[in-house]
Amino acid sequence: MSDVNPFGGEEEPPDKRKKDQGSWTPFGPNGPKLPDPKKFKGWRFSLIYVAVIVVGMSLFNYVFLNRANPPIDYSDFKARIATGEIKRVELTDSYFTGYTNTQPASGQTLPGLSRTDSGQVYRTVPIGDPELITLMDEKGVSYYAVSQQGATVINLIFSWVLPIAFFFIIWRFLIKRLGNMGGNVLSVGQNKAVIVAEGDIKTRFYDVAGVDEAKEELVEVVDFLKSPKKYTDIGGKIPKGVLLVGPPGTGKTLLARAVAGEAGVAFFRMSGADFVEMFVGVGAARVRDLFKQARDKAPCIIFIDELDAIGKSRINNIAGGNDEREQTLNQLLVEMDGFDGTSGLIILAATNRPDVLDPALLRPGRFDRQVLVDKPDLKGREEILRIHSKNVKLAPSVDLAVIARGTSGFAGADLANIVNEAALLAVRGGRKLVEQIDFNEAIEKTVAGLQKKTRVLRAEERKLTAYHEAGHALVAAFTPNADPVQKISIIPRGFALGYTLQMPMEDRFTVTQSDLLGRIGILLGGRVAEEMISGEYSTGAANDLTKATDIARKMITDYGMSERFRHVALTSRGAGMLGNTAQQEPMFQREYAESTQQYVDEEIARIVDREYAKAKDMLGSRQDILDRVAGVLLDKETIDEKEFRVLLEEAR
Ligand code: ADP
Ligand code: MG
Ligand code: ZN
Repeated sequence: MSDVNPFGGEEEPPDKRKKDQGSWTPFGPNGPKLPDPKKFKGWRFSLIYVAVIVVGMSLFNYVFLNRANPPIDYSDFKARIATGEIKRVELTDSYFTGYTNTQPASGQTLPGLSRTDSGQVYRTVPIGDPELITLMDEKGVSYYAVSQQGATVINLIFSWVLPIAFFFIIWRFLIKRLGNMGGNVLSVGQNKAVIVAEGDIKTRFYDVAGVDEAKEELVEVVDFLKSPKKYTDIGGKIPKGVLLVGPPGTGKTLLARAVAGEAGVAFFRMSGADFVEMFVGVGAARVRDLFKQARDKAPCIIFIDELDAIGKSRINNIAGGNDEREQTLNQLLVEMDGFDGTSGLIILAATNRPDVLDPALLRPGRFDRQVLVDKPDLKGREEILRIHSKNVKLAPSVDLAVIARGTSGFAGADLANIVNEAALLAVRGGRKLVEQIDFNEAIEKTVAGLQKKTRVLRAEERKLTAYHEAGHALVAAFTPNADPVQKISIIPRGFALGYTLQMPMEDRFTVTQSDLLGRIGILLGGRVAEEMISGEYSTGAANDLTKATDIARKMITDYGMSERFRHVALTSRGAGMLGNTAQQEPMFQREYAESTQQYVDEEIARIVDREYAKAKDMLGSRQDILDRVAGVLLDKETIDEKEFRVLLEEAR
């Protein structure tokens, strides 16, 4: 196919013709459609497209150029010269072309095209035949050789340029695919493009709602970043690391950005998972790089999202563990120790699994500050809804407070999602404004998804939970010497319906018998309150009962606090299983008679019963306070230490 010029004359270049066939696609009806410009770009690089061009060109060549003027036999050619039919012969390396006219009609004749204006054209494949020249001389045929310059260019294109272009395109295509998969094999050990400082962060504290305690603590961090001198002059140490702890979607990332935005410093963000690569040493190199960049940019914030991906405890690694992660973690620890608080570099990290973190990360000088970022309460949820519906056109009938009331247990991200979902529903329904029904539907959709992860309470359950938690809190308040109540909440957390936090007044290493009994009473307080308002027992207190029973059992078997075994420990510490580490509790072994077992069981029941009755007395005589506290809980979902004290004083 190298003899002819496929681009010659009035013919369009074949590849151009292919491109012009707009909607044709080699992928059939299910293939990508051309009109989409983004897809088109990828489509141009597709191998199939290239293949189609090549095949198309060959076909064009074959069909239009060769078939139209098939070579004739050499003998036939010679005979036509002999008869005088051919008057002129063009000689090239690959073909002899005979013309029946004497003069080429300039610009119109193409070597190889069958019909010219003025005659017939014959072609044949040359044979090394010296007689032909003699014959042509004899017959007065004019003959001339044509330089194959043009054909050589074609030759060149087909044998060199096209294959190279072809492989270049394949190479580009593969590199692009690799790039999309996220790993660039050529840049191992270097930073991915992700680690660039984001300057000029627009997020501010007012973009985050419902996490007031966390914000309060972070305000201080912002102040450190803004005027570190104020703190160092007085001899104070600036914290290096602050760990944001909380369930997913509560705004940890958002808060970290807000800190950077408020302080007006650069923000390096990386996810723990980004550090963990398949090649050992890459993660550590990334950490080193990140800190180097950050030190150059100080004051700034490094934010490590999902710290647990690299910070998992090294102790629990059975069978060697993960070398790569360990190296990365070690490098992180080294880097954190390597700068002092005056450099204006603060590391924020986020996790929802603080329990699995390596203890080394939490030591002083590292992430020694922990900030709880919890799910928002009623008021917080309303504020978050307000933030996210700022740019949404709401119908006047929409009451965000009502929506907040119906979304207990939702995190900030869920609420943002609801607003968006409601807006979409309104558009789908052809409404100009978002109505309450859109929100209701959006909530229903989200609840179904949430229910797999956490409990969403029915009204009945909510009331029972409020009384339950109020019961715990009040018994704690009425029990002398008990730890003060820090927070009461009926916001579901995972599968717990609510919780009451007590703050230990001081670190206690020894606990008296009455303290232990008090704790049992507090644990039972929840069930007592439930019984008082519903006249029934529910399963909600199962966990409390386990804990209470445990304390009672230990009192008898370990601490020698029963009538019969007053100073006797009934269990002994065993050697423990093979492979037990110091971190795990040693095994306890029972070393007593069957009859003793029976006594222990009865004694446990007696202790628990007695404490239950006491708690019932406490709450029964102050039913009004119980109602108050439960009422406030139902209303606001959380009560903090101060509010609780006020409630108690008012009731006195
Ligand atoms: P986390 O990092 O805790 O998983 P994110 O900060 O990534 O949560 O939150 C995801 C999105 O949800 C945020 O970009 C924001 O739109 C919304 N959001 C979450 N929590 C809040 C909050 N407390 N206030 C306002 N918006 C929030
Ligand atoms: Mg996050
Ligand atoms: Zn309880």
